[in-house]
Amino acid sequence: MLGNSFAYIEEYDIVFNEETGEYVHPEFEDDWCLICVDKDHPVPEDYEPELVNIAGNVKCDARVVDSVTRLLEDANNDGVRLVVCSPYRDFDRQTMLFRRKVKSLMKQGLDEEEAYNRAAMTVAVPGTSEHQLGLAFDFFSKDHTTLDQDFADTEAGKWLEANCARYGFILRYPADKTGITGIEYEPWHFRYVGERAAGEITADGLCLEEYLERIGYVSGITDR
Ligand SMILES: [Zn+2]
Repeated sequence: MLGNSFAYIEEYDIVFNEETGEYVHPEFEDDWCLICVDKDHPVPEDYEPELVNIAGNVKCDARVVDSVTRLLEDANNDGVRLVVCSPYRDFDRQTMLFRRKVKSLMKQGLDEEEAYNRAAMTVAVPGTSEHQLGLAFDFFSKDHTTLDQDFADTEAGKWLEANCARYGFILRYPADKTGITGIEYEPWHFRYVGERAAGEITADGLCLEEYLERIGYVSGITDR
């Protein structure tokens, strides 16, 4: 884990900004919301966003609470009752979710390695979940309360896909980008990247990795 974090910093030429307490590319110091976390690029171990509660015990990065609140209110005004079901998640909770998935796959007859690899397609390996950033949200609706691919065809799923960019969010794991993201299609998972990036990503049909490569933030990411 520690070794991976160093690799992450070297490969992306990311620096730690003492003032803001964030890891950023020197050319994109204001782009805290463009941090890319995936199976090759874990969350830096001491990444600790300032968290606030959206509702009850539901937490997210304090810098996105206004955007997600506006999104929820506007959806509600359009008759779409969204529910945030997984926002910020700490390392221990991600570990628990991952272990549970591996166990259930082993019960179905897979050996440990197969179970690990299969689990990693649907549940992020601990340390590599965007939910550990506080910038990602899973939504469902009052009418569709499971996180599955059918959500895409619901009114709520369609509303989110059509409108999320206006609030700075993207559909993070599109169906046609699984080869790049390494994650299956998740029509319920949305990631805050800021309004400008969200607009460009959505208009051009990119995924976050492709966008970051295009703006020169990372390189080689889409070749794997
Ligand atoms: Zn999610």
